[in-house]
Amino acid sequence: MTNDSGSKPDTATKDFIRALIDDDNASGKYGGRVHTRFPPEPNGYLHIGHAKSICLNFGVALEYGGKCNLRFDDTNPTKEETEYVESIKHDVEWLGFHWAEEHYASDYFEQLYGYAETLILMGKAYVDDLSAEEIREYRGTLTEPGKNSPYRDRSVEENLDLFRRMRAGEFPDGSRVLRAKINMASPNIVMRDPTLYRIRKAHHHRTGDAWCIYPMYDFAHCISDSIEGITHSLCTLEFENNRELYDWLLIQLGIYRPRQTEFARLNITHTVLSKRKLIQLVKEGHVRGWDDPRMPTISGLRRRGFPAEAIRDFCNRVGIARAAGTVVDYSLLEFCVRENLNKVCPRVMAVLDPIKIIIENYPEGQVEWFDMPYFPEEAGGAPANYTGPLSRKVPFSREIYIERDDFREEAPKKFFRLAPGREVRLRYAYYVTCTNVIRNAAGQVTEIRCVYDPESRGGGTPDGRKVKGTLHWVDATHAVAAEVRLYEQLFDDDEAPEDATLQERLNPQSLRIVQAACEPSLASGEIGAMNQFERLGYFRTDEDSSPNAPVFCRTVSLKDSWAKIEKKLETSATATAG
Ligand code: ATP
Ligand code: MG
Repeated sequence: MTNDSGSKPDTATKDFIRALIDDDNASGKYGGRVHTRFPPEPNGYLHIGHAKSICLNFGVALEYGGKCNLRFDDTNPTKEETEYVESIKHDVEWLGFHWAEEHYASDYFEQLYGYAETLILMGKAYVDDLSAEEIREYRGTLTEPGKNSPYRDRSVEENLDLFRRMRAGEFPDGSRVLRAKINMASPNIVMRDPTLYRIRKAHHHRTGDAWCIYPMYDFAHCISDSIEGITHSLCTLEFENNRELYDWLLIQLGIYRPRQTEFARLNITHTVLSKRKLIQLVKEGHVRGWDDPRMPTISGLRRRGFPAEAIRDFCNRVGIARAAGTVVDYSLLEFCVRENLNKVCPRVMAVLDPIKIIIENYPEGQVEWFDMPYFPEEAGGAPANYTGPLSRKVPFSREIYIERDDFREEAPKKFFRLAPGREVRLRYAYYVTCTNVIRNAAGQVTEIRCVYDPESRGGGTPDGRKVKGTLHWVDATHAVAAEVRLYEQLFDDDEAPEDATLQERLNPQSLRIVQAACEPSLASGEIGAMNQFERLGYFRTDEDSSPNAPVFCRTVSLKDSWAKIEKKLETSATATAG
């Protein structure tokens, strides 16, 4: 197996899961075999938390020369849809992983049913007529044992008959369940006669109306793992208490038993990583869909322009821990994205908030086409495997746009951009000096007048005169108008909001749309193209683009807040150590 980067993750420092696999390989527990699975429920789109599980399961298989299956845990017909299955497959592939086998828990329904009958015949399962609410009451609490159901001691024959009639559709939803007969006084509540099957007369996206009883997760999951010969069943910490049941069921049935191991879920600041909450955001219209670039879904991150490689890098950096850790700072993800894009993105120019400059001494009607490198040497040059054009022509004439924010009438001390009487360099073009400004009736500056130095062509002068500021710009007559979408965090708070407060915690500024002026090379609007707009950040050409009307999403700005945080952390760590 390979991943698309062709590289193996760094295994110098092994996490506890890899250490445990090493132990199993050393003892020959699974004959040196490593076979994992990624088991999503197709009830929503995958998010970056799933990416952590994907990178772990597929990563482990890759490193040990093993296999990883993709298994859809589709035992809940009312919440699952084919649309979700397709999106999940696409997302896993996009992340750069290839599954050995594709399976569906629903493919095992007949086999699972057979195992349920086996348990009944062994006297290890019974049909219970208590209502869901009564079952809850009988279950007891952490401090009190549960009570046996009055139906617990039905005969094998009666249980078998009732279970078969459940399957045949003779009873209404919720009237009966099949339960394992374990121990109502177990300190582990999961072991207090857990439900194995329930009646649900619902259409299933794959099995249609063939079934009206559906297995519960705990029953289906361990048996599916067993059928597929999984060696290491890796899941998140909330299943820790379910491990005892996982083992119990496979031991009772006397079938092959994988090893379940739990690891900590990924949590990130400023977002929610729960399909349920993400569905709420989509259904209530707070975002434009599952792939809205503000969403932490894989499809949202992809549309935002986050490269798969950067997401894998992020998951590796976060690592795998046994205990629930702190919430990971979103800026670590942005840091990984910048690191990646910095190496691969061409540099181009666009102005997000244009103000016009008229260069008074530049000949009217003249246009110069500057050849500008996509990968300036000072930024490291072109990436090794790059085969596209190395430069493009950019027009320059008497009227150009610069960023409104790059001009101040009253320039503060450290402001090295344009101001009355100040000279700046226009990237790759000329030095210009501001001579005058034009105002509207309200007194706002609407146009800036400059003069240029013809000797400064290309960005330097024979007298070696230095200017402190270099501005990006776009020629006004050739500018391509573009819609640019600028994003902020979906939630202002670090912590994920509760369901009830989801709406009120939303950041109203999370999407800002501006009309930008772009250099002509950006007109084609080739969907998915990634560029660095000089000084502004990385931008992806969005699906909403059409020729001559491009739409760009800002993936991430150039400002590196993470580097600052990292520095702070380092400083405080040294201070503590010292
Ligand atoms: P959600 O709460 O978002 O619906 P889930 O755990 O119910 O998540 P599944 O489709 O059951 O979603 O998850 C498939 C796999 O991904 C499981 O093994 C699960 O443990 C893992 N997973 C889900 N969320 C995270 C996360 N935040 N961090 C790490 N792994 C996760
Ligand atoms: Mg789940």
